[in-house]
Amino acid sequence: MTLSPAPVGSGIRFVRTDIGPDAVVEALATHVSNTARSTTLTQNGINVITVEHLLSALTGLGVDNVLVSLDNEEIPILDGSAKPYCDAILADGTLPQDCERRYITLDREIVYEDAVKGIKVTVTPADTPSYDISVDFNSKVVGVQQAHWDPSVDYAGEIGCCRTFVFFHEIEYLYNNNLIKGGDVDNAIVIIEHPVPRERVEALCAGLSIPVPADTSVGYLDGLRLYYDNECARHKMLDLMGDLRLCGGFLKARVVAVKTGHCVNAKVARMIIESK
Ligand SMILES: [Zn+2]
Repeated sequence: MTLSPAPVGSGIRFVRTDIGPDAVVEALATHVSNTARSTTLTQNGINVITVEHLLSALTGLGVDNVLVSLDNEEIPILDGSAKPYCDAILADGTLPQDCERRYITLDREIVYEDAVKGIKVTVTPADTPSYDISVDFNSKVVGVQQAHWDPSVDYAGEIGCCRTFVFFHEIEYLYNNNLIKGGDVDNAIVIIEHPVPRERVEALCAGLSIPVPADTSVGYLDGLRLYYDNECARHKMLDLMGDLRLCGGFLKARVVAVKTGHCVNAKVARMIIESK
């Protein structure tokens, strides 16, 4: 994957170099085709999978226009956070362009609510962008967590570095239903919510060709050290910022999100586009 400067007004565009120079996919919610575990864009039959962490880094670091060249359909997941993208972008730096940023503004408040699942996202017009998120997975290990971002918060150090996570019982379910393979869980924080017999862990690790952990008691697998106590909420913030970038630019709004995920984030981004 290569990030290249792009003209004013072009936004974020992907080009699949393995297909050809015209295989372009724009980062817009109208092209979202799948939100199971990550966000996929499809335009003219061309896929780009797992766009959210890169889009989040580009948003958190204030990149307006960029061409992302990709020789595969999936953006590299790397360590499961946006840190490697942030490091690369910050190392090379960005350039000012000869134009003021045109923010996405709203005429009215946008609300998405699913009362049954307890999900709610509110996007309110505001002069300064800000995001608040609250997560609750009904987990004793994770608990209820909150995270906040606004432009005064160091995105790379406080949000971008926070890694994706998965519950052990979800991995087991996905594996038993042939939905994941080895490599898919190398880059996630694994949370053991319920005591798991050692044999089940060993069987799963053998199936996925990953090392058997030393400690499989309830908690974070192998006593992993978190960057922040609320790293899970911070990662969900990372996802939210990336998915909402699919509204087509930088949002000038206050976003308050409760128990949201890729599917709802993409729907909200689409509602923002359709409100124009
Ligand atoms: Zn994520």
